[in-house]
Amino acid sequence: MNQAPASQQADIAANLAIVRGRIAAAARQAGRDLATLSLIAVSKMHGPETILPALAAGQQDFGENRVQEAMAKWPALRSQWPGVRLHLIGPLQSNKVRDAVALFDVIHTLDREKLARQITDAMAAQGRTPQLFIQVNIGREAQKAGVMPDATDRFIAQCRGEFGLNIYGLMCIPPADENPAPHFAYLAEIAARNGLRQLSMGMSNDYKVAIACGATHVRVGTAIFGTRIK
Ligand SMILES: *Cc1c(COP(=O)(O)O)cnc(C)c1O
Repeated sequence: MNQAPASQQADIAANLAIVRGRIAAAARQAGRDLATLSLIAVSKMHGPETILPALAAGQQDFGENRVQEAMAKWPALRSQWPGVRLHLIGPLQSNKVRDAVALFDVIHTLDREKLARQITDAMAAQGRTPQLFIQVNIGREAQKAGVMPDATDRFIAQCRGEFGLNIYGLMCIPPADENPAPHFAYLAEIAARNGLRQLSMGMSNDYKVAIACGATHVRVGTAIFGTRIK
């Protein structure tokens, strides 16, 4: 495997330490227990040479947004770092459900009945139980994935009742050009009234706000690994 230049490795470890420090500070300010917060390092579009310094620095939770890309990258890394937990944070297509259930420990993007059915079947067939977050289209954006906010209670009930799924929490990506705080607060409200305690919200630009609003899982890419090159 290629090694990143020493300077880049040092940057990633340093960036990770900075983000962890900011998460701890945000938790303290919000009067929250740091142990209830997970940092997911979003490694999409980065190769093993960039991911390895984060692993070496003790990072265990990683986020990927494409099943195929994750399948190409992670089995080899995981054989070296068996404690890794993989999070699927991108849209899940029907034809990738089996692979996703086989690879990921947490799926953040359950957002429709068909997917609930297929995930249920794949879990039964494989004897695996990834944690499931329902993605909510919190800003009601036409181009964005997720269940509409006013359909979320019903979808949670259907996942629990019809499919017997244990829903772990809710996930959202607020509109890019708006103040995220009201959107985070809204997601927290929907979760609370459905008895859900886990909230996957907050990215490089807004994870501190998200923690103030109750996030339990922040998904941070750029602030750790730098700008993604397409
Ligand atoms: C890419 C991505 C992130 C990380 O975004 P950054 O701005 O790089 O921190 C978080 N969540 C989702 C769903 C993403 O697709």
